Amino acid sequence: MGEVVCIEETIATSTIAFGEACSMEKEEIKEKGEDKCKEGNKCKLVCYSDLPDYMKDNEFILGYYRCEWPMKETLLSIFSIHNETLNVWSHLIGFFIFLCLTIFTAMVIPRIGGSISSKIQQNLDQLVEPNRREAQLGVIATILSPSHDEQLREIIQMQMQPQCSWPLIGTTEIPTTCRSSHVNNHTNACVQTTKTTPPAPGPEPITRWPLFAFLSGAMFCLLISTICHLISCHSEQTAYISLRLDYAGISALIVTSFYPLVYYSFLCDPFYRHLYMGFITIFGIATVLVSMVPVFQMPSFRHVRAALFSCMGVSGFVPVVHKLIWFHYRPEVVASTVFEAFMGMFYGLGVMIYATRVPERWFPGKFDLVGHSHQLFHLLVIAGAYTHYLAGLEYLKWRDVQQCW
Ligand SMILES: [Zn+2]
Repeated sequence: MGEVVCIEETIATSTIAFGEACSMEKEEIKEKGEDKCKEGNKCKLVCYSDLPDYMKDNEFILGYYRCEWPMKETLLSIFSIHNETLNVWSHLIGFFIFLCLTIFTAMVIPRIGGSISSKIQQNLDQLVEPNRREAQLGVIATILSPSHDEQLREIIQMQMQPQCSWPLIGTTEIPTTCRSSHVNNHTNACVQTTKTTPPAPGPEPITRWPLFAFLSGAMFCLLISTICHLISCHSEQTAYISLRLDYAGISALIVTSFYPLVYYSFLCDPFYRHLYMGFITIFGIATVLVSMVPVFQMPSFRHVRAALFSCMGVSGFVPVVHKLIWFHYRPEVVASTVFEAFMGMFYGLGVMIYATRVPERWFPGKFDLVGHSHQLFHLLVIAGAYTHYLAGLEYLKWRDVQQCW
């Protein structure tokens, strides 16, 4: 009888195979007189039709559900196979990837900037004879491989230009300033002070906090998501809390993703910097608050949820276009925009898959353990966040050599 009920409640005929397996499981549990596992017993996986309403989210995933397991078994289920195993591990591994990226950024990236400056300094310090300087700079420029820092090549080439007679020892920023839009205002002063200005210290790398804010947002999102997928099956209350935390994590990732883009692009324009950062921060907080409304959790609101988070992401389109209009001549700006385009593509595809529940919609029950839409969504989120990190590195390359004057 249990078998009949379970099969009837499945939504497609193609699910009969699983339905049978699921029903056998159900029969077995009932024979033992227990609908849920108890302390010390091995917990059973159940089928979709056995779930309480608050757990019914995806009717195309038919089986391998954990349902109201004790907390200890719920936590230990991270090491067992069920329909959330890959959801948990995909974002847990993603968390560790971003932890490594954070450590790498803190330990290695500033040194790269420093090594560029010191290399320039070293090369230029050695060029003490003015009549040999241009020839030697030419040799240095030639031996640099195309993959080597384009900034170093540009700076050396600028040193060779007669109209800007910068001291041999100076900051790497000075030649860039000469070529800036203010060149007419600064060139004369530059020439006049060439022989009297004492050597300036090397440029400080631009602040890293916007990039670290993004990395923190990404780690927070991935870790919260991992915990949510692991424990939400424990009880209605844990499901309620962890789902809201999950939305807060997604919002944090989206909001902090804007920070490197806006901060570095509009470094020299506080109005737009504050405008964009304020707007996205308020939008993110509003999204989290709306997510707290219980009706928002209903499966029928899936598209509303997807639309809300999409709107937040799409609002990043404005500062990206603004940045391109202003700084399209900078290769780092073009490169960061390409990464951001890939990021948008990954997130967009992820949201589409999340909302449409493809591919399990086409083959219900066939992707319960591996390959269902939420797992694909997780992978696309990690891919999107990683491309955003690459865009962040482009901003550092840009702003480490061109700041504001
Ligand atoms: Zn998830």
